[in-house]
Amino acid sequence: MIDLKNLTIEKAHESLKNKEYSVRELADAYLDVIKEKNSVINAYLEVYKDIDEQVKIAQEMFDNDTATLLTGIPIAIKDNILYEGHVASASSKILENHIATYDSFVIHKLKEQGVVVLGRTNMDEFAMGSSTETSAYGVTRNPLDTERVPGGSSGGSAASVAALMSLASLGTETCGSVRQPASFCGLVGLKPSYGAVSRSGIIAMGSSLDQVGPMGKSVNDVEIIFNAISKHDAKDSTSIPDEKRNILKNPIKKRIGIPREFLQGGGIDSEVLKNFEEGCEKLRKVGYEIVDVSLPSIKYSLAIYYIIMPAEVSSNLARYDGIRYGLSEKADNLFDVYAKSRGKGFGKEARRRILLGTYILSHGYHDAYYNTAIKVRKIIKDELTNIFSEVDAIITPTVPFLPFKLGERLNDPMSMYLCDIFSAPANLADIPSISIPSGKTEAGLPFGIQITAPFLREDILFAIGKDLEKLIAE
Ligand code: GLN
Repeated sequence: MIDLKNLTIEKAHESLKNKEYSVRELADAYLDVIKEKNSVINAYLEVYKDIDEQVKIAQEMFDNDTATLLTGIPIAIKDNILYEGHVASASSKILENHIATYDSFVIHKLKEQGVVVLGRTNMDEFAMGSSTETSAYGVTRNPLDTERVPGGSSGGSAASVAALMSLASLGTETCGSVRQPASFCGLVGLKPSYGAVSRSGIIAMGSSLDQVGPMGKSVNDVEIIFNAISKHDAKDSTSIPDEKRNILKNPIKKRIGIPREFLQGGGIDSEVLKNFEEGCEKLRKVGYEIVDVSLPSIKYSLAIYYIIMPAEVSSNLARYDGIRYGLSEKADNLFDVYAKSRGKGFGKEARRRILLGTYILSHGYHDAYYNTAIKVRKIIKDELTNIFSEVDAIITPTVPFLPFKLGERLNDPMSMYLCDIFSAPANLADIPSISIPSGKTEAGLPFGIQITAPFLREDILFAIGKDLEKLIAE
């Protein structure tokens, strides 16, 4: 029996290398758990049929001595990441049978290393949501408490790792969709700097905010995957060129800022706040200086996000017209093909955001909403950039509350959107941010602490994250 609970990428690699078990046996261990648990958890929408071939390639790499740390590692991918020849539906009816015609950059990079991709995971439709309840293919349940949501929108990817149905996974972020489900499932989740990971082959939501991010049981696992996928890609014009990645990295000062006014306005549950303060105290004990900082404009982040994102959504989702991709309804004229296909194919939340975005971008409102939001985004970004001359990173809870019950927020969009309050600044400012598990309630519900660093300083997140992870485990 392989001890999946305590398995890390490095441990699995050592065991595969030393022939304690084969790539096949490792994949089978996860496939057995999937068979046992997926019907309840619904983390996977599909387990791929080509696992045998993937296993064979990975095993050959071990046998030829060309294996890397990720060779043979079983991972799960979110249903908006293209993998050639496989369905990628973004958990929407409109793309139900959409087969990817090429590999996304991230899949390409992982395949080079012989990763075994077990399957695609459930998500909020087109990544819109914080609970994985807006999927057209049923909800995903939180493995730590199946009456509760796993978070979203990458809830299936998080649940697959937490339920030991994959060793690690990929999600995507537009505003917290990796960090928030990681926090709700007791995992580490990283939102990289904008442009660090190519968006080529990722089904777009809000293009100026989207990034792929890894999830895993440890900071080290997440760092290994990040290093594998964080490379320049000529197919994404926003991908950072390699020479610009080697920025001068000032040494870490071990000084972290708490945006105190922002926290006070965040509607945080008292137990979440208590856990957060305890986490900060632990960091202080090992030599971190943690100070209150003032970031007067970040309180507008959520409002700004909910203007920029729907504007980009309405534009990105215009391509699903019943002609070019996916679901196509028959009608007498072209307009009705559009209307019927989109009406049938998109769920409620997707339609809500398309309508909002179209309104925001419409003649007469464009200046008042969209252009104003872009200006405030710049102010938020500048404030954060300036504060990083004083501190290495910013620390907050990841989400203001604990994983909530299924259905609890689904019919109240405003309360659902509040999940994103602490996530939004990093996406708006293009900077990296990580969620680290910070203990559990007596009932076993996980807390998460979020650390946010300057552009391209993922190294700071990994360093502080590893310290915090060690302190929490003590
Ligand atoms: N909760 C965010 C939203 O609903 C999640 C977006 C994301 O990161 N994909 O917009």
